[in-house]
Formats: sequence, structure tokens, C-alpha cells
Amino acid sequence: MNNKLFALWGEESRSSDSSPKLYEYIYNQFNVNGNNIIWDGYYSPPSLSIDENLKKQLLNCMTEDRISFDVKDRFYHSIGKAASEYIRLMNGEKIEIVDAVIYPTEEQVPYLFNNIGKDIEIVIFGGGTSVTEGLTPKKKRKYSVSLDIKNFRDFEINKESLVLEAGTGFMGPELEKKLNSENLTLGHFPESFEHSTIGGWIATNAAGQESNRYGKMKEMVIGVKMITPTGTYTDHPVPAESAFFKVSDLAVGSEGAYGLITKAWLKVNPIPSNRYFHSYMFHSFMDGIEALRDEFRQGNSPMVSRLSDETETALSMLAIKDSFLTNIFKRYLNMRNVLDKSALLILIDDKKSSYKSFKKGVSIGSAPAKFWYKTRYDRPYMYNELLKRGIVAETIETSMLWGSAKTLYNNVIQHISVLYRTR
Ligand SMILES: Cc1cc2nc3c(=O)[nH]c(=O)nc-3n(C[C@H](O)[C@H](O)[C@H](O)COP(=O)(O)OP(=O)(O)OC[C@H]3O[C@@H](n4cnc5c(N)ncnc54)[C@H](O)[C@@H]3O)c2cc1C
Repeated sequence: MNNKLFALWGEESRSSDSSPKLYEYIYNQFNVNGNNIIWDGYYSPPSLSIDENLKKQLLNCMTEDRISFDVKDRFYHSIGKAASEYIRLMNGEKIEIVDAVIYPTEEQVPYLFNNIGKDIEIVIFGGGTSVTEGLTPKKKRKYSVSLDIKNFRDFEINKESLVLEAGTGFMGPELEKKLNSENLTLGHFPESFEHSTIGGWIATNAAGQESNRYGKMKEMVIGVKMITPTGTYTDHPVPAESAFFKVSDLAVGSEGAYGLITKAWLKVNPIPSNRYFHSYMFHSFMDGIEALRDEFRQGNSPMVSRLSDETETALSMLAIKDSFLTNIFKRYLNMRNVLDKSALLILIDDKKSSYKSFKKGVSIGSAPAKFWYKTRYDRPYMYNELLKRGIVAETIETSMLWGSAKTLYNNVIQHISVLYRTR
């Protein structure tokens, strides 16, 4: 057996800063003893050998320094972050592990695709945050090789047209840092931002926390370059082209099924000069839905709008650590009759004037919205703590028309309650 490898979310040394009260509440709901750690969050992959035939084939296509047979590399390139994967790792089950990892440059890819043996399956790897098991080797061929896109690093900004031409290997923080230094932003901030790549975002048609303003990937991409086993296809990168279809129409949301997206042309935007934070409490989630719907119908769509139901709101309240100020804040909520069984709405916008009052909403200032913004990438670290105690947290994403919102919500809650008896 090899050394144990960290198998939870993010950085090994980082942990969640949520209040102990929150954990206590969740453990009680699941009837779990918080002191009972059933998984340390590590996995021991088996010893893995190097297949000499595979090595020879790969060396025909690229130099040795771009090929890895290291167990750690192979393990991390074989897993994503789906709940089903965490469960397998937690249970110490055997998982499929790729036979090698390759790190080609963009220029090497066409030669690789033309010359690689038919007995090798290639799984494309961006940041490894997939929740669809998209990184799991299927082992339908003799060998599985993970192709890591981190060397696709072209970067050129067309400032006049506000278009970025970028290699797909950039991760969120580095990309935004480079754009911010030019006073620009892509505006794509998924919760997985710190560990996901442009390539992964496009291949999953990802949506970020500010997609009200900037759109999801489909709206941001104006062209891609995709290298496939049958050739290289590159868009004429212009927006709103009316003729025929574009390569990006195939690439966005493709999960790598049609080819490797090596480069993208993306709309970028000036950084908002300011952000204004607003928070409201509604007496019910349904009141909140109606208020938001009316705002959107009037054409008011803030950059960020997050409405939590009564359960999530209660959890957010518990996450706040006790202090003199937070106790005063809670007393104020109590006075306004919105401390318990209420629904929290957070709005963030770049216009000062927007969203001062809602008919059925109680304005509770900027603090909750600011707190959410500050901690917006922290939640998966809380999930790490839960996983160690055998509780698997999962996000269910959906899309619907306003007219179906209430029914959909009620049906989902009812179904989950019956399944897991958690409410
Ligand atoms: C805690 C957490 C929070 C998340 N939050 C969000 C969120 O807010 N919004 C959201 O939309 N998603 C979210 N996700 C899902 C995930 O982060 C996204 O799908 C993300 O876009 C994946 O990017 P990645 O770079 O990690 O890609 P990977 O996970 O490495 O790959 C994802 C898929 O795309 C394929 N792929 C990757 N790069 C390329 C390429 N260059 N060419 C062709 N195919 C490629 C892979 O083969 C795989 O099928 C979250 C996941 C987690 C675990």
C-alpha cells in the first residue's frame, strides 16, 4: 500500500470557520456523534505499476517530462468531487485509476491524437472539481490516460473589443488576477472557482454566482478552438453570428465528448467600481420568491441574488459566531419578528440605488450579504467536516420558469424529506 492521500475538498491545511453551533445542529439532525470521526479524509491507493508498452506508445508522441506514472498524480487525476465518489473513497472501495497522466502543450495535441494507439482512452482533466464523474476512467480500452490541460496558457486581451483569448488551462484565481490588473473581470465565480479551469467551465456550461449579470459560460464564450481526433476546428470569434452553428455550440456543455477545448475567446467586462450589499428577511420562502420574481419582471436583475429557504436561513444564522455585535443583530431580527422560520435574501449590485425596499421583506442591512460574499468559497470546507462524520452534503441544481417555482420547490422538499427524513 502507498501513503494515504488527502481526498477531500481543496487545500489540506484549510478548514471551515463556521460556528460549532452549526455543526452541533447538523449532527443532531442526523443523529451523529460529532466526536466520532469515521473517516480521516484520506485514501490509500494500491501500488500501481508502470506499463512498459503504454510508456513506449506515449513516448512516441511526447517527451518524457510530459508524462507521469506517479501514483499521486494518477490518483488525483482519476477522481472528481461527486458525492458518489466521496462515498466510495470514504468506504475505502477500489476505484478505477488512470494508467498515466500526460501534460501536453497545445502544439503537441494534434500529433498526439493522430498517433496515439487505438487501445488508449483519453480522459480530459481541468481542475478536477467535476460532480458528474466526468473524470472517472471508463476502462473501455486497454489503457486510460488522463490529459491535463494546465499547459494551455495563451493570454491576450483585446481591450478595444473587450475580448479575452485564453488557453483553457487557467484556474479561476490566476485568471481573475491577470484580468483585474487590467481593470477587467470575466465575472465567472462558481463556488468551485478556486480550483476549476476555463476548460472545465466551458465543458460543463458552468454558472457562477454573478451569472445574473455576466451570464453562464454559454453567454460568455464567443468562440473556441477544439482539437478532435478528426481535426482541429476553430471559431471565427465574433459574438451573435447568425449563420450556421459554431464550434462553441458543440463544445459548451460537451464534457469533453467531442474533443479537447484548448483555447477560448471570452467576453470580459470592466470591474464594477463599487459593490452595494443588501439583505432582507421574508416571513416565508414563498414571499421571497414572489418578491424576486416581481423585481426580475420589472427588469431589475442584481449581479447576485440568493434566496435561502427557512432551513438554509436557520443554518446561516447558526454559522455566525457569537459576539457582542452578532447578538445585537439577532435581537434586532427578533424584534422585527424575522429571527425564526424566515427566508434570507441577499442582493449584491453595482448600482447604489437598487433594491431598497420590498413590500413583504424586512431590510436587515448589509452585514449578511457582506458576510456571504467574504465566505463564498468556504462552504465546501464545511462539507469536509461533515464527510469525516459520514454525512455527505450535495447540491441539487435546477432551472425552471417562475410559474413552476413553488410547485417544484415543494415537490423536491417533500421527496427529500420522505427519502431522508431530515426535516
Ligand atoms: C464544491 C463545488 C462547488 C461547485 N460549484 C459550482 C458552481 O457554482 N457552478 C457550476 O456550474 N458548477 C459548480 N461545480 C461543479 C464544477 O466545479 C464545475 O463543473 C466546473 O466547471 C468544472 O471545472 P474543472 O476545471 O474542475 O473541470 P473538471 O472537473 O476537470 O472537468 C469537468 C468535465 O469537463 C471535461 N473537460 C475539462 N476540461 C476540458 C477541456 N479543455 N476540453 C474538453 N473537455 C474538458 C472533463 O473531461 C470533465 O468531463 C462545483 C463543484 C464542487 C465540487
